[in-house]
Amino acid sequence: MKAGHKYVYFFGGGKADGTAKMKNLLGGKGANIAEMVNLGMPVPPGFTLTTEACNEFYARKRKYPPGLKKEAEAKLTRVERLMKQRFGDPKDPLLFSVRSGARASMPGMMETVLNVGLTTKTIPTLIKKTGNPRFVSDAYRRLIAMYSDVVMEKAAGIEPEEGKGIRGPLEGLIGKVKGKQGDDADLDLTADDWKSLCTQFKKTVKKVLGKPFPDDPMAQMWGAIDAVFLSWFGKRAVSYRRIEGLPDDWGTAVNVQTMVFGNMGDDCATGVAFTRNPATGDNNFYGEWLINAQGEDVVAGIRTPFAINNVSKVATNKHLPTLQGSMPKLYKQLDGIRRKLDKHYRDMQDIEFTIQHGVLYMLQTRVGKRNGPAAIKMAVDMVKERLITKEVAVSRVRPEQVDELLHPMLDIKAEKTAKKLGTGLPAGPGGGVGQIVLTADRAEQLGNLGEKVILVREETSPEDVHGMKPSQAILTSKGGMTSHAALVARGWGKCCIVGCGDIGHIDFKKKTVKFGNKTLKEGDWISMNGTKGVIYEGRLPMVATGPEKNPSYKKLMTWADQIRRLKVRTNADTPEDSKVAISLGAEGIGLTRTEHMFFGERIWAMREMIMAEDKKGREKALAKLLPMQRKDFFGIFKAMNGRPVTIRLLDPPLHEFIPHEKATQKEMAKRLGVSVKAVAAKADFLSEFNPMLGHRGCRLGITYPEITAMQARAIFQAVVKCRKQRIKVSPEIMVPLVGTSEEFNNQKAVIDAVAVEVMTKSKMKFPYMVGTMIEIPRAVLVADEIAKTAEFFSFGTNDLTQMAFGYSRDDAGVFLPEYVGNKILADDPFQAIDQGGVGQLMKMGVERGRATRKKLKIGICGEHGGEPGSVGFCHEIGLDYVSCSPFRVPIARLAAARAVLAEKDRKRKKKK
Ligand code: PEP
Ligand code: MG
Repeated sequence: MKAGHKYVYFFGGGKADGTAKMKNLLGGKGANIAEMVNLGMPVPPGFTLTTEACNEFYARKRKYPPGLKKEAEAKLTRVERLMKQRFGDPKDPLLFSVRSGARASMPGMMETVLNVGLTTKTIPTLIKKTGNPRFVSDAYRRLIAMYSDVVMEKAAGIEPEEGKGIRGPLEGLIGKVKGKQGDDADLDLTADDWKSLCTQFKKTVKKVLGKPFPDDPMAQMWGAIDAVFLSWFGKRAVSYRRIEGLPDDWGTAVNVQTMVFGNMGDDCATGVAFTRNPATGDNNFYGEWLINAQGEDVVAGIRTPFAINNVSKVATNKHLPTLQGSMPKLYKQLDGIRRKLDKHYRDMQDIEFTIQHGVLYMLQTRVGKRNGPAAIKMAVDMVKERLITKEVAVSRVRPEQVDELLHPMLDIKAEKTAKKLGTGLPAGPGGGVGQIVLTADRAEQLGNLGEKVILVREETSPEDVHGMKPSQAILTSKGGMTSHAALVARGWGKCCIVGCGDIGHIDFKKKTVKFGNKTLKEGDWISMNGTKGVIYEGRLPMVATGPEKNPSYKKLMTWADQIRRLKVRTNADTPEDSKVAISLGAEGIGLTRTEHMFFGERIWAMREMIMAEDKKGREKALAKLLPMQRKDFFGIFKAMNGRPVTIRLLDPPLHEFIPHEKATQKEMAKRLGVSVKAVAAKADFLSEFNPMLGHRGCRLGITYPEITAMQARAIFQAVVKCRKQRIKVSPEIMVPLVGTSEEFNNQKAVIDAVAVEVMTKSKMKFPYMVGTMIEIPRAVLVADEIAKTAEFFSFGTNDLTQMAFGYSRDDAGVFLPEYVGNKILADDPFQAIDQGGVGQLMKMGVERGRATRKKLKIGICGEHGGEPGSVGFCHEIGLDYVSCSPFRVPIARLAAARAVLAEKDRKRKKKK
């Protein structure tokens, strides 16, 4: 240990060593506990072992740094002095909880052990002191169950199969005693029942795990601390970190805190609450509680929790008592703390409290998870309440949360006539349609194959996250709004319904689930309205909801637009898509893929052109395509009403337009009046070994300049038509797949010649631009040359990624998931720009292009243009705009604004 190095931080009695700012060192829980203590709130005293201690523990091959134990024991003595009780004292024992707490909340991913310090020596005193033998035995059995599971099994490296751990036989023992009374019957078990269960528990632990349950308080405490540290690299925590992209070297802290009990009688209670409603964002105190219960009862979904007040009531707890009604004074105190915390943190808090014999204790506060609509509403409201600035509001809403507003919902009309299977708590908004699966493994297997599945469970646990992620929606029969399923789904913005009491027995053998009297099988389709909490039979249609009617969204996006520097355009090929994109805030079109205009009925003119023997024949067929293209471009120009429109010339290889099956070749031959042999021969002639690197892009336009000329003519004639109707137009013609400046110049010459021709004929002069895609690595290297004549660049990062990595964009799906899983790549480079490689090519392209043409307009139109991290990168390297699919436009707008704020933040930190 370095001299004076501190691994253990004390809190209690109005004073704490730490503060909320020390999250990296004390973990979120430890830092916030310290803050609450400093704010004078009632918090049971204890101490926090730091995340540094965790990292040291691993660095020293699972051994503590010297001095740490001594330091912890000194803090323990301080707690004892404060509480006037001693740990393990047979006369008046102190009990502790031992909980994990990483930098970021990882709900249920790591371990907790409660009631540490209960031994055969301390139990009799505690019974005498509380006069409540039932409570003590209940606490003891909880300790044995948790400890054997967490410390003696998981931390010892025993990883039993799903449902086969020590918990199973222990729960089986309780089940036997409870008989057929059902889950809520916990309260009906007597002191003797629990006492005899404790004896049986200990026997079972010894039998199954081969070791006795420890009867020494210190052994219990250090065993629990070890287990928490070890759980940082437990299977669940590691898989959660992979999904959330959290680093391994954060480590977890351990909080050792004096136990307070919510289950000592009817003047005791426990609850979980939010300082604002996490599902709607409304500024109401929102939460759940249970009388005579421990915290885990509320979150584990074993009992249906009550609402803390009337505004928190939902269908399943409408008839149950509220904290406000049952304990009005304590509710008022709690509400006061809620207001103070909300104001102090200037953000919605998720709090845990316990009432022990009429005294309120705060156990935890942290920034609460919320869904997208709630995040937006809270951020905007807090600006109005002068708690935060507009900039903070924009940086607080993640682009994915805006995405939730754009989530499809079940079609209301279809819902009216659909067969209802049941109702539950609306834990995650939006619609979900999929086939029932009953295990997380099955959900993962099918979901990753692209099947639409809904995971149906009694409740979920952190062990299910791998199957929850690829599911369309999650449905549980138990649990409340703060249950595991609800928290995780809310964090992901996934459709989720919990506590659906209509779900009866789930039969894993027969793979069936009962909804009332109706039995459904695995594979049957159901539909869910996660906003209302209703489940329907069958496969209902979904509709996209527009965010236009949400005033908070509009406000937030206005602020984002004021902050961002990057422009946001859209990739659209039709007037309809263009209109949708404008309604979502698009400022232009960054890519119109003209090949999409050659399908449907038009494919016949295209095929006629391909079949033509010579230029004359091709021009004849192209003449048929000309008016169709003109109409397309006119429609788009009109919809865009003066906003810039980038139209890309034909890009894919011609064989994509020709059928390869015999039957369709026959049909084509008949329709075009040629022989089947001729069609087959053409298909053969056009076929390529490596079409992605073949006769496509500008190479087509160079060999068939008449195609380029026809497209340019259609564009310019549409421009003339627009101008005649006083519709403003800003056309930008883009040449694809350029690798040399000569290629570009060749195509530009064709386009310019047609422009002159159309201008002369129409006696009208109009501005236009000719530029190029930068999607071949060579184009980057000679960008300075290309920029001599190209008036704009647009990065085609789909092809650029393909060619920089040498990964076929159509085939890489086979190995990329494994690459990402094994950390060979941090992300799929076709989704998020590979900043270290492809991103460097982009940077070079920008620098070289602008070295020639200082104000060269540069954008991006590959799929990455709508991915928040990539948008941030585009901002950093100085692009003018990003272009993405219409429904990603709002995400890109927000991401672009957040990039500005992040940049400011970096600069500020650098100055410091
Ligand atoms: C690209 O390559 O990034 C691009 C936008 O073009 P396409 O996807 O049509 O090849
Ligand atoms: Mg491309």
